[in-house]
Amino acid sequence: PFDVLIVGGGPAGAAAAVYAARKGIRTGVLAERFGGQVLDTMSIENYISVLETDGPKFAAALEAHTRHYGVDIMNLQKAESLSRDEATGLVTVKTASGAALKGRTVILSTGARWRSMGVPGEQEYRNKGVTYCPHCDGPLFRGKRVAVIGGGNSGVEAAIDLAGVVEHVTLFEFMPTLRADAVLQRKLESLPNVDILKNVQVTEVQGNGAQVTGIVYRDRATEQVHELALGGVFVQIGLVPNTDFLKGTVNLSRTGEIEVDARGQTSLPGVFAAGDCTTVPYKQIIIAAGEGAKAALAAFDHLIRTSA
Ligand code: FAD
Repeated sequence: PFDVLIVGGGPAGAAAAVYAARKGIRTGVLAERFGGQVLDTMSIENYISVLETDGPKFAAALEAHTRHYGVDIMNLQKAESLSRDEATGLVTVKTASGAALKGRTVILSTGARWRSMGVPGEQEYRNKGVTYCPHCDGPLFRGKRVAVIGGGNSGVEAAIDLAGVVEHVTLFEFMPTLRADAVLQRKLESLPNVDILKNVQVTEVQGNGAQVTGIVYRDRATEQVHELALGGVFVQIGLVPNTDFLKGTVNLSRTGEIEVDARGQTSLPGVFAAGDCTTVPYKQIIIAAGEGAKAALAAFDHLIRTSA
């Protein structure tokens, strides 16, 4: 068996692998797509000490760093189930290809994916004005008019955040009322450069081939269709953790995030988790990497306490 078997090869999994391998223990990474969400990222400007890089470059650096320590990378492999043998403490991860991999400890770092609106133009203009991350991309829209889609806490927080950076924000909510906490709604309503549209459905993202130019939406009360010229669209309708295959094994939150303690320990002994798939707030590369390092150190602690 592996001493540490890591499921997921994004920033969290790569950091966990480097930290584990540097302890001189047998480390493997199983990943559907090594690199993770970073592969879909254009520009990264908030990884401390790296002024600017792009996603593919960052992902290649993650892989080079991981390989440098002789970590066994099993790429293009999807985990489908996890189980723990009570008697031996060994954890088995089964893959879609039929393999069964064993770990004395396991670190889950399967990440998450942004929920998309599913309207015409959204995929086409992804990274060309359509974005899912205000912390990442807010500063790229300085001086522009943008939309935020979604009136839950993350949408309203994003609108408040962006209002301080961009020229103007229009928030779109499908329901007749916002779902965000009252204190956030009050803050949003107090801002001079924010409009709030409720009971509206976005039906299309418009663009000129290179960049987003606007949005089409339908007023659900009057059935009238409107167009609004915009330079950017921030979609904030949910982040879905990749944890379906874990249902019934480790404890998950209401939204499917893996519940972890301060050391990344899950509800199953010897099974740790890190990054966007967990309850740890603020889904960012630097946070995922830090959590991955923590989970590896916690797994190592577990090994030296449980092995003969
Ligand atoms: P992920 O990067 O999601 O990696 C998950 C890994 O698990 C992948 O290898 C995946 O293939 C694998 N996996 C999933 N399910 C399974 C399974 N069942 N079996 C095996 N493997 C599995 N953050 C920033 O800090 N700065 C930015 O500028 C920035 N820009 C972003 C731009 C975009 C377009 C996106 C989508 C995100 C951006 N983020 C940014 C967020 C950042 O990418 C994530 O917070 C970070 O990648 C999370 O790392 P992670 O390792 O937890 O998960």
